[in-house]
Amino acid sequence: MIVFEKSGIMGGTTNFSGGVMQAAGTKYQKEFSDFQDDTPEKHAAEWLAEGEGMLDEALVTDLANGAPECIDWLADTCGIEWVGVYGHCHVPYVSNDLMADRIHYYKDGGASGSGSIYVQAVWAYAESLGAEVEYNTEVSDLILQDGKVVGVEITVDGETFKVKANKGVILATAGIDHNIEMAKALNGQQYWVETEYPGTCLCAATDTGDGIRMGLKIGAAFVGGGTIDFCGKTGAATDNRTPIFPEFIVNSAGQRFVCEDATYAFHYRAIYQQERATGAPTWMIFGAGGGSVDQKIANTTEGTSYAWQDEETLNAAIESGELITADTIEELGEKIGVHPQNLARTLAAWNEDVEAGNPDPYGRIEGLAKIEAPFYAYHNTPFNLGALGGLKITQKCEVVNIEGEVIPGLYAAGLNAGGWVGPYYPGSGTAIIGTCYFGRVAGKAAAEN
Ligand SMILES: Cc1cc2nc3c(=O)[nH]c(=O)nc-3n(C[C@H](O)[C@H](O)[C@H](O)COP(=O)(O)OP(=O)(O)OC[C@H]3O[C@@H](n4cnc5c(N)ncnc54)[C@H](O)[C@@H]3O)c2cc1C
Repeated sequence: MIVFEKSGIMGGTTNFSGGVMQAAGTKYQKEFSDFQDDTPEKHAAEWLAEGEGMLDEALVTDLANGAPECIDWLADTCGIEWVGVYGHCHVPYVSNDLMADRIHYYKDGGASGSGSIYVQAVWAYAESLGAEVEYNTEVSDLILQDGKVVGVEITVDGETFKVKANKGVILATAGIDHNIEMAKALNGQQYWVETEYPGTCLCAATDTGDGIRMGLKIGAAFVGGGTIDFCGKTGAATDNRTPIFPEFIVNSAGQRFVCEDATYAFHYRAIYQQERATGAPTWMIFGAGGGSVDQKIANTTEGTSYAWQDEETLNAAIESGELITADTIEELGEKIGVHPQNLARTLAAWNEDVEAGNPDPYGRIEGLAKIEAPFYAYHNTPFNLGALGGLKITQKCEVVNIEGEVIPGLYAAGLNAGGWVGPYYPGSGTAIIGTCYFGRVAGKAAAEN
């Protein structure tokens, strides 16, 4: 096996990740969480519910069933040491019975950048089996012969070479993370992030959707869409160990529109839709103490904090213009261009409901406390962890054309493949377990070719 890697290092966005991975029913889940009877069936049902009917049920079921074995394989074969399990935040329409703490993290993992531990562990194993890599080598085209992919064209230092593939070609070049034209054509939310919030995509710069482009060029089908967006400042709703603080999100009409403590990409999809629908920013509104001063919303990753945790950071944020503040809610509305009376009505309804203990109209569970003056507003600004949606694949990761027929010799894995995750990212640990599971399936299928 040979890997052609466009950049100078192995691992792409996976290096930048926390390396956390979802799986149900593992011995580690039993050891590190309260969930003793969880099953891959429940996991698949949760993912499928979050897929809103858009996903390939067979792929999702395979991923949920295969995830526990990947976790064991990573430990037993690649030397990964699992040390904890936590959960992601809820989604209002998904039954609580399907939810569980399933996010596995390994020793020294969990923080951005620690995904490189997983990359190195898997690569060391691959190398021990004879795998080779060529760096700074861009796969620029697929070579077709009688409808079969028989090799690739590579570009090195501006020179092009043709390489024959004996068993097949596996595309694993991620999604259309840094490709505005492709996003415009295929993924509205990624296009919005790239154009309205430039510079917020944290994916590897080399991930420009090349594998998807090459597949489309020879007739492959594209499925899925959506993104992995989250609040760039608070990191809210990324981790069920860190309760979200009392705040609500409004559009320019001063109205709430989403369950703010739902898992990050769920509420971020709603932010995207509102900003598109109104042509105006959305805002996070909170009150005295910056909401976070007492609540300590430091991210659980040790040493990392995302928001205004004390008077000093709060004042600095006001000074820099990151936070807008006012003594009355109407005045705050005026300052941020949000309908002042509607905003006041939204605040009154919030405070009335939390005082009376009424169920939240959007299904929110965390951070239901009164919000009082002085008031603060933060223009919601996403971080983007990548685009969802890729080439349509079979359960063996064979790429399928727009007629539903397999393109012989061509496979796709990771975020280069679609149909297994979307239309919003269901929660941390979904993508990396997908890279592991589908990567192994694709490798096995090609080897057996
Ligand atoms: C900061 C951050 C934290 C995250 N944390 C997590 C987490 O903890 N858990 C989780 O599940 N998900 C996480 N995610 C999401 C997850 O990391 C990505 O979805 C995932 O790593 C994508 O994996 P991939 O293998 O598809 O692509 P990548 O890991 O990006 O690999 C693609 C590779 O293809 C190479 N390439 C591209 N084009 C070509 C070409 N033409 N020729 C040759 N090579 C090419 C690239 O250089 C790159 O090395 C995180 C994302 C970010 C940005």
